[in-house]
Amino acid sequence: MSDINPQQEFEKLLTTIKDNQIAGDLELLRLAYDFAFDAHAGQVRASGEPYIIHPLATAQKLAEMKLDMPTIMAGLLHDVPEDTKVTLKEIEKNFGVEIAKLVEGITKLGKLKYRGMERYAENLRKMFVAMSEDIRVILIKFADRLHNLKTLDVLPPDKQFRIAKETLEIYAPIADRLAIGKIKGELEDLAFQYVYPEDYKWITTIIPREYKIKEKYLQEVKDKVKKKLAEENIVIDEISVQGRTKHLYSLYKKLLRPHINRDLNKIYDLIALRLIVPTVVDCYGALGVLHGMFRPMPGRIKDYIANPKPNGYQSLHTTVFTDDGEIVEFQIRTREMHDQAEFGIAAHWNYKETGGKTTAKNIKWLEELVKWQKQITDNDQFLQTVKLDVFQNRIFVFTPKGDVIDLPEGATPIDFAYHVHSSLGDKCVGARVNEQLVNLGHQLQSGDIVEIITDKNRKTPNPDWVDTVKTSMAKSKIRAAINKIKLK
Ligand code: MN
Repeated sequence: MSDINPQQEFEKLLTTIKDNQIAGDLELLRLAYDFAFDAHAGQVRASGEPYIIHPLATAQKLAEMKLDMPTIMAGLLHDVPEDTKVTLKEIEKNFGVEIAKLVEGITKLGKLKYRGMERYAENLRKMFVAMSEDIRVILIKFADRLHNLKTLDVLPPDKQFRIAKETLEIYAPIADRLAIGKIKGELEDLAFQYVYPEDYKWITTIIPREYKIKEKYLQEVKDKVKKKLAEENIVIDEISVQGRTKHLYSLYKKLLRPHINRDLNKIYDLIALRLIVPTVVDCYGALGVLHGMFRPMPGRIKDYIANPKPNGYQSLHTTVFTDDGEIVEFQIRTREMHDQAEFGIAAHWNYKETGGKTTAKNIKWLEELVKWQKQITDNDQFLQTVKLDVFQNRIFVFTPKGDVIDLPEGATPIDFAYHVHSSLGDKCVGARVNEQLVNLGHQLQSGDIVEIITDKNRKTPNPDWVDTVKTSMAKSKIRAAINKIKLK
């Protein structure tokens, strides 16, 4: 039995909310806590703790990620409809539509059970659709999963394995695509030991030893670099030794690469020095100073500022030989790049909060989604590691409002129109794809934003469309509309 006290945890949540300057009605937050507390009263987790500890931990994580108040409240309420007699209707009555919608989104995802690779694509697709409705749903799901992973040791081994494997194969890749590196790392490191227990033991034995030796050396290099940058008048906000102790799983994957072949000496960024400087110009300035001090290793200078990674990551990386013949990696970035790297899409909440309007968020999210889809089709490695059956013959396109429509490859704007609504299909006279006029036989691509042009005087579809469309749904709707006219 644990002696975690719910009231104390709630006080901690309030403190985090204040520290992170998250705006919102704290009285309403307290009501949400009381509501969840009462709904879960008498329930205990497998660990023996009162159930309310879990939603509290979920909300705490969301507050640490600096998400908005409705997201934190939905975190408190996220298991209420699933596990208690209280319904979504009651949540809506008490806390409004926005929070009820978030809770509904999580409840829907909760019904997905991972059943190995054959279910992978299906799960991913559903996550995708849930995200497109409101990205915050997936962020709550991450916080929920993190706490479940932290308390996994009390569950039977088969359940541990299932949850951990699902985390590595579905949740972590999504966190990566959303560029939330911090959450991705936490998810992976918590799941690692349950999926690959032997290798986890191996890694946790070799790393601390190696790390200790290198860390001491890097502290010395750090002092030297600090002094030199000051002489050159380059301001540094922060310079710190960054160990990979917190990213064991990504290190493990790196060690498994064929040319590294489990040899730790071939990993140059086991430990690195990270510089945070005020401006982009300072980034390049600092790089110049470093290369003046130490000889750079050829082929290891990476300019992710000029060429960001597909998920938006930006930094300058360089690996150098120090005077003692040691090899050290440096990462140089601005504060904004740093926040983006750690919090990804979640970072935008802080900068882009616009008085509860969700439009701006959705547009930003849409951009990310389109980027992500492009990446899925471009990135061979991702396709090799997981077989994306659904993505290989399905495309995802968007309405101008950002709703996702899921169609087979080769689908046309007419298919799209009938999938949105029969009457939209029947009255369709043209289409714009990504703001360009196209003909109605045009083949849509994943990520396209499709707008249907209608003529309200038009009553029947063109019979020739039956041969143009790809989906049987559109075919049968066209036939039905034509038959209706013939019968008159
Ligand atoms: Mn939960």
